[in-house]
Amino acid sequence: MNIVLMGLPGAGKGTQAAKIIEEFQIPHISTGDMFRAAVKEETPLGLEAKSFMDQGQLVPDRVTIGIVRERLGKDDCATGFLLDGFPRTVPQAEALDELTKDLARELDMVLYIEVDENELLTRLTGRRICRNCGATYHVVFAPTQKEGICDRCGGELYQRDDDKPETVAKRLSVNLEQTQHLLKYYESTGKVHRVDGTQTIDQVTESILSLVRGISK
Ligand SMILES: [Zn+2]
Repeated sequence: MNIVLMGLPGAGKGTQAAKIIEEFQIPHISTGDMFRAAVKEETPLGLEAKSFMDQGQLVPDRVTIGIVRERLGKDDCATGFLLDGFPRTVPQAEALDELTKDLARELDMVLYIEVDENELLTRLTGRRICRNCGATYHVVFAPTQKEGICDRCGGELYQRDDDKPETVAKRLSVNLEQTQHLLKYYESTGKVHRVDGTQTIDQVTESILSLVRGISK
């Protein structure tokens, strides 16, 4: 079962990825983890990636794709993989097609957890942190008893700059554009399956698992 998992920030990809890998016993391959592992193992590509990251630069596709190639060639990917965070762009998707062909594999499905932008804004801007003890809350999903006051220690809550609406909106719009291009690319393959990510977490899981089961038959 070779799956690409897609979804905008806040769509619940991480939570659902955990369920998928548990059910189908395939490795969860996220770009971040892959980079960290390659850097730690000091592979030539890992070292190259590190030198870009150390300079605060984006890791070029050539290096990223090389690292993905090494990762997908490992033994634990024999029964499949769940790719998360890669591909991010159409050129990367094209490279992945080449790469899977080289490995005599084929993508089975592209799962897209769909959540509209307004809902994502609510999810992503709601986080509040206690200045005093660092406890984390969410104004909608995990509110404090008294607004703006930490339940645990009575400290004052604040919002990180990263969680401010302007910042989140900017991040979302960049991601949304890339995602739309990618979906368009994959639509032509007939492998895209959209799941309504505004359902409860358990419902989203159920929708995803039944889709994947349907494919793996
Ligand atoms: Zn506190």
